[in-house]
Amino acid sequence: MDLDNYDVVIVGGGPVGCITGESIKHHKVLIVEEHSAIGVPLQCGGLVSKEGVRELGYPKGVVNRVRGAYIFSKSRCIKIEDSDVRAYVFERKIMDKDLAKRASKNADFLLKAYGRLAPPQQGRYSLSVSFMGDNYHLNPQVIVGADGAKSSIGRAAGVPMRREILSGVQLEMVDVEVDRDFVYLFLDRRYSRDFFAWIIPMGKDRVRVGLCDSSDSYRKLINFIENHPVASQMLKGGVPVEFSVGALPIGYVEETVKNNLLLVGDAAGQVKPLSGGGLYYGAKCAKICGRVIDEYLSGDYNMEYLKRYHTLWKEEIGREIDLGLRFRGILKRMNDSMIDRLLEFIEKRGLVDYIVREGDMDSPSKVVGDIFKKFFGFR
Ligand SMILES: Cc1cc2nc3c(=O)[nH]c(=O)nc-3n(C[C@H](O)[C@H](O)[C@H](O)COP(=O)(O)OP(=O)(O)OC[C@H]3O[C@@H](n4cnc5c(N)ncnc54)[C@H](O)[C@@H]3O)c2cc1C
Repeated sequence: MDLDNYDVVIVGGGPVGCITGESIKHHKVLIVEEHSAIGVPLQCGGLVSKEGVRELGYPKGVVNRVRGAYIFSKSRCIKIEDSDVRAYVFERKIMDKDLAKRASKNADFLLKAYGRLAPPQQGRYSLSVSFMGDNYHLNPQVIVGADGAKSSIGRAAGVPMRREILSGVQLEMVDVEVDRDFVYLFLDRRYSRDFFAWIIPMGKDRVRVGLCDSSDSYRKLINFIENHPVASQMLKGGVPVEFSVGALPIGYVEETVKNNLLLVGDAAGQVKPLSGGGLYYGAKCAKICGRVIDEYLSGDYNMEYLKRYHTLWKEEIGREIDLGLRFRGILKRMNDSMIDRLLEFIEKRGLVDYIVREGDMDSPSKVVGDIFKKFFGFR
């Protein structure tokens, strides 16, 4: 097998690896994926904003549309309701395969193949790829680590990965009837100390129920399903048909370009700190990554040129992630009674309409910042 004539090798065939591959239009690209199928195992709620769907290029796999959210604290609930669709729920297996199909116009795939970074020689990293019991040494001009939250590629390059990693657990359940126009978010420290739990309707009779936290998420999810006063009633009689676990990086990597290696998507921590959503930012950054690589390989540039990718993606979403991290820090310090008071404040001050009008799933910092300013009384 001749694997040595690729200009670019992308490690990771998730959505971000695929969009990066799709975006490198003029060079030979190989995507190396450790699993035997694209899109499995599932590690995602599949909720994407309207703008996110546009950024992803309108992939297949929509199973539901939602107009808002019920947000529960320990003792209160507010309903954020728009008349229009605000977000789409995807079957990720279908979405990911569709993204792979698009990428395959420019890129080849090697499935069930594991990529390892080899130490740099003359300033350039290479890769060792295990495939069907054999090891191949690949020496592309550029390597992309799109290998998810734990990024063994980034670690092997010695990139500092100072960020919080949350663990997420999710069950798909059938025979559950909920209002399918809304997602349900549970900001309740009794169930998730550092993040939240959710129920995302997937159309008729089907939901994803999940929870993220710093530790012990599986036990906490079961406790949530069995004991949360509202959720346990909603999910009563529901039958689990799929179980998934995954890691959520909160905070980005400070060095996403090292020599001829670029990190993108979850590997780079391009994730919204308040919600954990990574598809929109990942797609945005994948396109920048692909474009910069194409330019680098087409022009007469030295490797420094690749650093443009880091500058460009930080310009796009760096400030929003920084603000999200700050607000997450504030939220983490709030206990259940304070969160109750926050929801009460939002309702009594008529801020629900403001959230509906101005709220943006992808850039929530403006609305969250305004509400925090009002709530904590500093203007
Ligand atoms: C529980 C949970 C719920 C979520 N819900 C949402 C949501 O509703 N909306 C949203 O926008 N985001 C959500 N996210 C985040 C979203 O799933 C990620 O941001 C997104 O999948 C990132 O895509 P990626 O391609 O960067 O990484 P991944 O999807 O993790 O893909 C990385 C790929 O690399 C492969 N790989 C890893 N190492 C190697 C290796 N060494 N060699 C070969 N292949 C390798 C893996 O097998 C994997 O296929 C959720 C995450 C979790 C954990």
